[in-house]
Amino acid sequence: MVAMERRVVGVDDMVLLPSVSDTGILENLKARHGSDQIYTFIGHVLVCVNPYKWLDIYNEQTMRYYAHKQRIDVPPHVFATAEETYRTMVREEENQCVIISGESGAGKTEASKQIQNYIAGISGSGAGVDKIKRTFLESNPLLEAFGNAKTVRNNNSSRFGKYFELLFDQAGRPQGGNVTNYLLEKSRVVKPGKAERNFHIFYQVLAGLPQGALEKFALSSDPRDYHYLNVSKCFNIDDIDDIVEFEATTQAMQHVGIKKKQIELVIQTIAAILHLGNVEFEPLQVKDAEGSRMHPSTATSLANACALLGLDVDAMEHAFSYKWLHTMAPGGKIESYEVPQNPDQARSQRDAIAKHIYECLFDFLVERVNHALDIEKQMDKDDASSIGILDIYGFEIFDMNGFEQFCINYVNEKLQQIFIELTLQSEQAEYAQEGITWTPIPFFNNKVVCDLIEARNPPGIFYILDDTIKTMHSRQGDSVDATFLDKLTSVHKGHPHFSKRGRVFEIKHYAGNVQYNIMGFGEANKESLTKDILGILQQSSNKLMQYLFGDIDTDESKKPITAGTKIRTQCAALVTALMDCQPHYVRCIKSNDNKQANHVDDKRVLHQIQYLGLLENVKVRRAGYAYRGDYGRFLDRFKWLSKETSGDFRGSDGNGAKAIIKAAIKHIPALKDEVQWGKSMVFIRSPETYFALELLRDT
Ligand code: ATP
Ligand code: MG
Repeated sequence: MVAMERRVVGVDDMVLLPSVSDTGILENLKARHGSDQIYTFIGHVLVCVNPYKWLDIYNEQTMRYYAHKQRIDVPPHVFATAEETYRTMVREEENQCVIISGESGAGKTEASKQIQNYIAGISGSGAGVDKIKRTFLESNPLLEAFGNAKTVRNNNSSRFGKYFELLFDQAGRPQGGNVTNYLLEKSRVVKPGKAERNFHIFYQVLAGLPQGALEKFALSSDPRDYHYLNVSKCFNIDDIDDIVEFEATTQAMQHVGIKKKQIELVIQTIAAILHLGNVEFEPLQVKDAEGSRMHPSTATSLANACALLGLDVDAMEHAFSYKWLHTMAPGGKIESYEVPQNPDQARSQRDAIAKHIYECLFDFLVERVNHALDIEKQMDKDDASSIGILDIYGFEIFDMNGFEQFCINYVNEKLQQIFIELTLQSEQAEYAQEGITWTPIPFFNNKVVCDLIEARNPPGIFYILDDTIKTMHSRQGDSVDATFLDKLTSVHKGHPHFSKRGRVFEIKHYAGNVQYNIMGFGEANKESLTKDILGILQQSSNKLMQYLFGDIDTDESKKPITAGTKIRTQCAALVTALMDCQPHYVRCIKSNDNKQANHVDDKRVLHQIQYLGLLENVKVRRAGYAYRGDYGRFLDRFKWLSKETSGDFRGSDGNGAKAIIKAAIKHIPALKDEVQWGKSMVFIRSPETYFALELLRDT
């Protein structure tokens, strides 16, 4: 791309829009998308409309073009955002983060990879540095193989959230990094939705393993032979070759330093999960109760699964059909008894084991990536500055939404909160505080929805769910879900963002109304396996399983934390981490629901413009000021511009500095109408004026 020769369609920065309205924004984005200009700025916020076709704009030549250029001097591009993020970090030695948001299929993961590529491309080299770069770039295909899947919204949908931090030395060379992963949608392992797929890795293994290895793991190459894959009736993805992808995944594992033997154990675990899913159950009357036993025709599947996982077949078979319940007897004594499980309950035990093993396997891979990126090995962390890139699962609405969609949409609410807090709210609050002339811009603050979900008082949905589980400790399934819904309704009846219909509750999210079916909320929130089953897994003779389960505390009296508490705590930590950085934003927009190139669905795009708050963003920005800085710092930086200010003013207080700058400004006519005098800060309206000052300073 020769960026300078392009014809600008619409406006590059929507602050310059002739018509400031939702439709004005839509028309601008649409016209630009139509001529393959998919990026547009709103000040420092980058808006990207998914083109659904590969444009030749991510090559090395384009990277070189964007290197060392100011955002306002170049056409909008994700590289411009990456450049600004990187250069600000190097210049100010301050931690930066890029927050990428948008609904499922909008283009977040692609944007995150382009940012990583750009940073790898422009940030120096050297043996150690190159190894770190390769590790962080290769962690993408690895984690995508195990954590992404085809959904109805997106062929490569992230089913986990990821905050990727890269650490740099003072010269701006990558020295290490860290990945934090958030709540994997593990229900997919046992039940991918109709017309969707399980995680990519399952299909990759079946397609990519050579015949000899398939035989070793007692696998066939046909996904239809495995219940966990067959159930969704979708096996292939257009334009994706699972054989090629398998090759990329195994290579990526090697590149992040996973040993050959370990790679084999990882694949062996994937094979075992497929066998486990084929174990079936039939009803059996046990002492007047409805119990179950394994269907004899599936004994080989169990034997295969257990052989691959190094587990005892009899213990596992028993663990499916019976469950230990532990209750507190009067006097505080814990009483334990075995309860027969009906076929449905046995299946759900089987599924719980498969999900848990898969989740632990995923955590193990993240841990391996982190081990390879470990900064301690390279340098002192205190000397490093970082860039964090946040790529999570996007907001989504399916026909049936369960606990995991609820968590995914909650994380998206939190991100929207951060955006509001950092761009709309704090900018306006600062104007008020500084006494700057300003007409406030109204916007919808989704804090009310976040509170509904996470607050302690009145108890939000997560607290009510935890409380229900605590008080109904020994009960199973349905009754927990029903009690949860009753409590929820009694606490939040009449809440403007909550309503209930039958076994479904609806939340008016910032991005749309979603109906959640409460079935399974209780079980999903419980998160962990029972201690008895964990005890069986701990006895494994397989090295990887020993590593995954060896350290787990199986003391029955200690309660594991729930999935809801975990995601809530993780989210709070994430918000703290993000607030500690200088933020940059990429807001991705999905052009249409058919993954179609050259097509913008007006209604869908307009809806996203509205809920993302782009109009408010433009308005705040338009009336806003490109530069703000306290008087002392401003004087220090620009004192050579004029005779009045060029003396030694160290030690002069804010007011002194303000008076000096005011006096000096009359020598710089360009600044006259561009400046507002705040209480402690000077505000300069347009970036052009600020850069003109910088230029004067350099000459
Ligand atoms: P999810 O929340 O489901 O993970 P996402 O926002 O991460 O969604 P991506 O996986 O990044 O979405 O993008 C979905 C698809 O859209 C990609 O697989 C690719 O086909 C297309 N796409 C996204 N961004 C671009 C781009 N910049 N250029 C070309 N195609 C793109
Ligand atoms: Mg994604």
